[in-house]
Parts: sequence; C-alpha cells; structure tokens
Amino acid sequence: MSKEVDLLGKYLHILNNGRLIKNRDNVIIHASSSSILIESDLTIIVDTSARDDCYIIVKNLKHLGYTPEDVDIVINTHLHNDHIGCNEIFINAEKYAQPLQAEGYSINSVDILNLKDISIIETPGHVLGHISVIFKNEMGMNIVIAGDAIPTRNNYYKWLPPRICSNSKGAIESMKKIAKIADIIIPGHDRPIVVLK
Ligand SMILES: [Zn+2]
Repeated sequence: MSKEVDLLGKYLHILNNGRLIKNRDNVIIHASSSSILIESDLTIIVDTSARDDCYIIVKNLKHLGYTPEDVDIVINTHLHNDHIGCNEIFINAEKYAQPLQAEGYSINSVDILNLKDISIIETPGHVLGHISVIFKNEMGMNIVIAGDAIPTRNNYYKWLPPRICSNSKGAIESMKKIAKIADIIIPGHDRPIVVLK
C-alpha cells in the first residue's frame, strides 16, 4: 500500500479511485469521480462515481463488510453525473448536497447535517454550490475530499483551476482554502495528495 493510503487511517476508504481518461487528442472520453467511505457513528459515502463504476463500489464495499443497503448517508460534492452515478444503489441512505446544487433534485441540504468528525466547506468555482468534505482521522489529520474543486494532482501541483469552471478566480480561492486546511487532499479524479506544510 502506498504511503498516501496509509495516512488515510483506519476509517476512511477509497472505494473507487477517481479518474479522467483522455484520448490522443486530449479529449476526456471517460470521467468517474473518487468515491469515499467513512466509517463513523454513521456509514457515510462521499460522491458515488459514474454509473459504469457502480460494480467497483459494490465490490470494494463487500471487501470491507458492507452492502449498499448499509450506507446511511451520501454526500455529493456537486451534482455532475460523474459524481452521482451510483447514488441510486444506496437505497436506505439520505442524500445531501449544497442547497444551490440540491435545488430541483430530491436531495437534502447539507446545512442540516451535523456529523461527528466531519465538516463541510464551501468550495465554489468549478460550479456554484460546490462543497468539499473534511474528515479528521484518528491521527488528527485533516483529509479533505475535494471533489472537482481540485480535480487532479496536476491542478494542485501546477496550481491550475479546474478546466471546467464557472468562476476561475473563485476556484483558485477554493483551492487555497483547501490547501490551508488539508494534511491530505483526495482529488475528484486522481489519487491522494500529501500536503507539505
Ligand atoms: Zn464536476
């Protein structure tokens, strides 16, 4: 296991590694978000990847001793298809997103969520109403599940706003906000990043 994965701790698991697959012309032909399981008082999933990847999520949940029915809460960083593709398999879970994103969907507002070890920050830029989720692990490290506020390692290391962006200045502000809080960042479409302080 890589050093980054060890640092995530015992209670946070990456069920699906987010990725962006491009063709030779650099056009994205497949996108699927990182999907994260957090074992706390409740069983929580952040983002559910693209529909094609539901089997990966189910398989990895099974390895950890869970079925989709066991999940209590799904939090979506935003409601693009490649982040909500498997929401429906979690039939018993309450679903949450930021109100600006939740409008028009049968999804609850994160404003009413109050969870142990988890906090939510607003990280607009990629889209309005984008949120990121912070989990404090048993080692006291802040793991930020960034969603598309930081889609790839390249965005972070080269300090580039997401390619799809409703407000690039806001997106950079959101990246700064995340970098300041995070010990580890899980990008929307890439492997984790250890933040050097
Ligand atoms: Zn997106």
